[in-house]
Amino acid sequence: MTAPPVDLRSDTVTRPSTGMRRAIAEADVGDDVLDGDPTTRRLEARTAELLGHEAALFFPSGTQANQTAMGLLAQRGGELILEAGAHLLHYEQGALAALWGVQPRVVAAPDGRLSADLVKSAIRPRSPHLPTTAAVAVENTHNSAGGTVLPLESMRDIRRTVVEHGLLLHLDGARLWNASAAAGVTLDAFGGEAHTVMVSFSKGLGCPVGSCLAGSRDLMDRARTIRRRLGGGMRQSGILAAAGLYALDHNLSRITDDHARAARLADGIAALDSVHVVPPETNIVMIDLLRDSADDAARRLAEAGLLVVPFGFARIRAVTHLDVGDREIERAVNAMKHVLG
Ligand SMILES: *Cc1c(COP(=O)(O)O)cnc(C)c1O
Repeated sequence: MTAPPVDLRSDTVTRPSTGMRRAIAEADVGDDVLDGDPTTRRLEARTAELLGHEAALFFPSGTQANQTAMGLLAQRGGELILEAGAHLLHYEQGALAALWGVQPRVVAAPDGRLSADLVKSAIRPRSPHLPTTAAVAVENTHNSAGGTVLPLESMRDIRRTVVEHGLLLHLDGARLWNASAAAGVTLDAFGGEAHTVMVSFSKGLGCPVGSCLAGSRDLMDRARTIRRRLGGGMRQSGILAAAGLYALDHNLSRITDDHARAARLADGIAALDSVHVVPPETNIVMIDLLRDSADDAARRLAEAGLLVVPFGFARIRAVTHLDVGDREIERAVNAMKHVLG
């Protein structure tokens, strides 16, 4: 019998563990649209506190939570300043335009790390000829840049610039857990620098479903209306929130294991002269192929029992997560040596 493939396509591929499934089965539930689900309320309160905000709201997906934030912060015809590789721009089905009529004002930053100066350069002066800047969004860690961390000092500087201009700042923190662990910065220190913060439970924390948006009580009251409008009003959502609570108790503190394994994977193939490996800061390893196309390499790696995703023409992405251990990393290194070496 051959072993199942090592799946490094994303940290979303994890299956809920036995303990998590038990927590789901035992969750105390109510109707969250009618008068509140007790488990969902617990997760929301705990997440708000973790992120340094007054309130949080549970969502079925990070995309819906991000877009709800856009509904709060942006206005039709206004501009959203964001980094050129942002999830909000590339992976949300054009929702900025389709839902809110927002015009993206894109700024390319090295390694996806926006700075206060870059943000400042994109803020429109008041003029009858120019569009109005509505809001700013940052992503931490930055997915398409390879899980890079935006340092706390940069977040602070950006926040200051944003506030000086009377704007609002959104933090897409689907992987803020990873940023916090890698930088040694608490979640509330990062979270407190933005007006709205999105975090995902379905990435490194290993939950089947769920994200939260955090912010002031006033913003979250308005967010509830937008969430309902987007179809995100869920009934016995405690079934899902229980997984989030379980993950905060059991899976958050181990996220550094994923970073160590990403580093091991990168080190293991660094000597191959057919690739250039970007040294990972967190759990995402970007591998530039010097000989193969990404599609071809991904296909041949799959045949050798390793799943990765093509990321552009000559780059593949491998992501470590809860469901891969040291043994799987060893197999991944061997498959890459065999196929790409
Ligand atoms: C995954 C992700 C999202 C959206 O999450 P979904 O739950 O897949 O909608 C948002 N931002 C970033 C940076 C992500 O990686």
